[in-house]
Amino acid sequence: MSTNTQDQFNVETPLSCPVCGSDLVKTMIRTLGTVTSRTSWQMHVGQCEEHGWFQAEIVGKPPRDIFAVTRPFGASRRLVVNGREMYQFPTVWNDVDFDDRMDKSKPVNPLDAQYWKPQNVD
Ligand SMILES: [Zn+2]
Repeated sequence: MSTNTQDQFNVETPLSCPVCGSDLVKTMIRTLGTVTSRTSWQMHVGQCEEHGWFQAEIVGKPPRDIFAVTRPFGASRRLVVNGREMYQFPTVWNDVDFDDRMDKSKPVNPLDAQYWKPQNVD
């Protein structure tokens, strides 16, 4: 583990269970580095008591996908949701217009929870 790595435990994260929308427990945010002075690189992790561990990585912008994992920072795992195999859950951030996503004059808060919701859920 490098000296750059910092873990925070039981913290608030916009990450919620992409299957049922529940708040997660045992949340953790690992700061993996700093890309620029304003852009940090983080991994958010938490556990849904019913659906297991999930994590999402952000680099200055909301995550594109939430991944089902075996444990924090572990391997991806297969999850069956309504008969469909899922390994990752694309977020609504993908629905934002590309030009808006890339517009540096209107920076988006990467922790804005509205962008962390999974697509196609209700
Ligand atoms: Zn759940």
